[in-house]
Amino acid sequence: MKFGCHLSIGDGYLGAAKKAFKMGAAAFQYFPKNPRSLSIKDFSQDDAALCKTFCDENNILSVSHTPYPTSITPHDAKKREQVIRSLLNDLEITEACGSIGAVVHFGKHLKNKTLIESYQLMIEVLNEVLSEWNGQAKVLLENNAGVPGTIGTTLEELVQIRKLCDYPEKIGFCLDTCHAFSCGLWNGDNWAEVIQKGKDLGYFDELKVIHLNNSKYPTGEGKDRHAPIFQGGYIKEDQFDQLMKTPKLKEIPFILETPKEVVPHEKEIKQLQEKWG
Ligand SMILES: [Zn+2]
Repeated sequence: MKFGCHLSIGDGYLGAAKKAFKMGAAAFQYFPKNPRSLSIKDFSQDDAALCKTFCDENNILSVSHTPYPTSITPHDAKKREQVIRSLLNDLEITEACGSIGAVVHFGKHLKNKTLIESYQLMIEVLNEVLSEWNGQAKVLLENNAGVPGTIGTTLEELVQIRKLCDYPEKIGFCLDTCHAFSCGLWNGDNWAEVIQKGKDLGYFDELKVIHLNNSKYPTGEGKDRHAPIFQGGYIKEDQFDQLMKTPKLKEIPFILETPKEVVPHEKEIKQLQEKWG
C-alpha cells in the first residue's frame, strides 16, 4: 500500500519529496503554490525536475492540491478567468514535478443558478482549461462533503461530469473518505455497495488518489472535519479495514490530510503500514 500525507513546499518541491522519503512515505501531496491565492507562480523548473527525478528513483508517487480559492463554479467572469489561468499554472507545476494530477474540488450549487446551470458551468470551465492542456498530469475531481443530496457528493455526479466534458481522458478522481462519510455515500457499513456502484459506473478505473481521513462527526451530518485514522474519529478500524482490502485500491496513493498536531503524520504513516502495509 502506498501511504503518505500532505507536505509543505517550504523547502521546495524536491524538499517535499525528500521529506516524504525521510518519513518512510510512499506518496505525498503538496500545494503547487500559495494555497490562499490564485496568482500565477513563476516556479523553478530545476527544482520541479529534481523532484520528479527523486520520486522516480525512490518510487514515490505524488499529487498536487489546487489552492483553496479554486472553484470550478466561479461566480463571475473575472473569477472564472483567474481560476482557469491558475489551474493551468497548477497543471504545469504538477507535470514538471512528475505528479499524477492536481486535485480540484467539485463545484458548488450557485445561488443565482439552477443545479443544472451549475453543472454546465463546471463543464465549461473544465473544457476551457483542458482545451489548453496537453500534458500527462490530470485534473483529479474530488468528491464534496455535505449533507446527503448536496452537490458533488455522489459517484454518479463525478462520473457524469467527467463524461460530459470534451476531454474525459484528462480527468481522474480523488476520493476523500471523510467527505464520503460525511454525506453518507460511505456510511461505514456499506463499502461493498460503494464498490459495486463504483465498478458499475466505471468510477474506480479513473480513481487516482485517496484522501485518507477519519471524520470528527457521525455520518450524514455533512460536516467536513478530519480526524486522525486511529484516534477520535467516527470511522472504525474494521470499517477502514474493508476499504484497505479492496484489490482495486492496491496501487493508489493514500494521502493523509488529518490533523498532524493531534497525531504526527510520520507516526500515523507507521501505524498504517503496520496495520495494512
Ligand atoms: Zn480531501
